Amino acid sequence: MNELYHLLLRTERERNLYEQARELAARFHERAAWHDEYGEFPFANFRDLKQAGFLSLTVPKQYGGEEISLYEFLLVQETIAQGDGATALSLGWHLGILLSLAVTKKWPEPVFARICREVVEKQVLLNSAHSEKATGSPARGGKPETTAEFRNGRWVISGRKTFASLAPALDYFIISATIEATGEIGNFLVPKTASGLTIEKTWNTLGMRATRSDDILLDNVEVEEEALVEIIGTPKAGQPAQGWLLHIPACYLGIAIAARNEAIRFAKAYQPNSLPHPIAEVPEVQRKIAQMDIQLMNARHFMYAIADQWDRYPEKRAEMKEELAAVKYTATNTAVNVVDLAMRIVGGQSLFADNPLQRYYRDVRAGLHNPPADDITVSIVAKRALQ
Ligand SMILES: Cc1cc2nc3c(=O)[nH]c(=O)nc-3n(C[C@H](O)[C@H](O)[C@H](O)COP(=O)(O)OP(=O)(O)OC[C@H]3O[C@@H](n4cnc5c(N)ncnc54)[C@H](O)[C@@H]3O)c2cc1C
Repeated sequence: MNELYHLLLRTERERNLYEQARELAARFHERAAWHDEYGEFPFANFRDLKQAGFLSLTVPKQYGGEEISLYEFLLVQETIAQGDGATALSLGWHLGILLSLAVTKKWPEPVFARICREVVEKQVLLNSAHSEKATGSPARGGKPETTAEFRNGRWVISGRKTFASLAPALDYFIISATIEATGEIGNFLVPKTASGLTIEKTWNTLGMRATRSDDILLDNVEVEEEALVEIIGTPKAGQPAQGWLLHIPACYLGIAIAARNEAIRFAKAYQPNSLPHPIAEVPEVQRKIAQMDIQLMNARHFMYAIADQWDRYPEKRAEMKEELAAVKYTATNTAVNVVDLAMRIVGGQSLFADNPLQRYYRDVRAGLHNPPADDITVSIVAKRALQ
């Protein structure tokens, strides 16, 4: 067994999922440079994921899905990200939302059941578009400037959303909006076919380019009354923590593993004519390889241990907010450090456009701006310690 997974694959089911994800990741790796260069959504990868039945992995069994655990979900995410980080992050939003809804049961059951069936039978895709220019990260509690008004038995939604990953591939957008009559914030399930909904191609970024996290424009978009699927309360102590968000650290650790593997491959193969052996035998290179692996062990065993706790002890979940945030903090910063070490091992070759390391370098930067941001984590961890 691969030395990165020998302690982590504990069951036959985990091994099967990992092998399936590995096979898909190998195909995605071949396409990643092109999608990144042209900033195109990886439709071919999603066709493969659909064919493999991966879009329903987190759908509960009662609705025909696989109902994988959080731990298994992270194994899939981390492995897919080794092939293509943008595909993994995009898949993670979709699978994570389904996992979260199955646990929290926040949506009316008939609506959730219908969406689950559509995911299983038609492999539809969904994601949240919560971010806006004026609010920044929704995790900070800003109020959406997108509005929803109830008129003649239908909701009418207007506004602009930013950072909507998978925009061109989505079948459903989950749009947060301020309800004009009450001032409450609601989540609305909006089909891509709704008239007045358009995508503006704003996503021309340094990293995670193939996620196509474009802007969504809503111009008097009319949806049925049942489209209001959830009223979002104000975050308060005791509210369930969001284990599903660990798909984010899993994704960035997967990218870091890809960088580590590329550096090791290079170190074993590269023998400059000033040396009688490949650079893998140089003590300084070995030190950097060990540093990468020790940092990865720290971050990955922490992440998988917390996911395992989440799966085993549902009654403890409300008390895990700080640990979940610390996993994301540790993983995304580790990913940045590991890619940096990998590039130092490879040297100047890592800067060339046809070298995957430069893409990993750009992609891991995005992790710092996925929720929760480091300053939020630092604040909640310190607050708990000082209580
Ligand atoms: C690759 C990628 C994919 C994404 N996909 C999605 C998606 O599918 N759906 C979605 O809804 N969003 C998505 N996001 C958006 C993400 O969740 C954030 O909303 C977005 O990155 C904006 O965060 P920010 O840190 O730039 O903004 P801000 O939160 O505004 O932070 C910017 C700066 O201002 C400071 N700041 C702002 N407000 C405060 C405050 N109240 N207190 C203290 N400091 C403050 C911060 O510390 C930081 O320095 C994605 C982001 C990325 C990078």
